[in-house]
Amino acid sequence: MNEDIENKLLNKNTKPTSMRILVYDFLSTQQVALSLSEIEAHFANADRITIYRTLKTFEEKGIIHSIQENNTSRYKLCLDDCNEETHKDWHLHFYCKICKQTTCKEDYYIPAKPDANFRIDEIRLFAKGICEDCLDESLQ
Ligand SMILES: [Zn+2]
Ligand SMILES: [Zn+2]
Ligand SMILES: [Zn+2]
Repeated sequence: MNEDIENKLLNKNTKPTSMRILVYDFLSTQQVALSLSEIEAHFANADRITIYRTLKTFEEKGIIHSIQENNTSRYKLCLDDCNEETHKDWHLHFYCKICKQTTCKEDYYIPAKPDANFRIDEIRLFAKGICEDCLDESLQ
């Protein structure tokens, strides 16, 4: 399990320190994007600056991407095709107005056009609505 995470970090040119392994492990179990304070709350005994630095490193190395929402950054693990040169998280981020959670909708993305005569470095897609779970509940 830990060896798995170590390899994932090494593949993204990141030294697998114990804190990084813990944070990666935690984020890999999350379905929704979490804010810094939510991540801190999970690691109540850890130094807040260390957690913050871990997230910054992860973002630089293409391990996590951040989603800006109402002046808060939320973090979610990237897929394998992100690296320290580029992030490819050009998918929709969806905010549910009822449960107030943000999720990645990887099925909705802007496909790269190889013959484009311009260069895109970053695309942000953001939608608000009602998620599947909350819709189901509202129908009962
Ligand atoms: Zn990414
Ligand atoms: Zn919801
Ligand atoms: Zn995402």
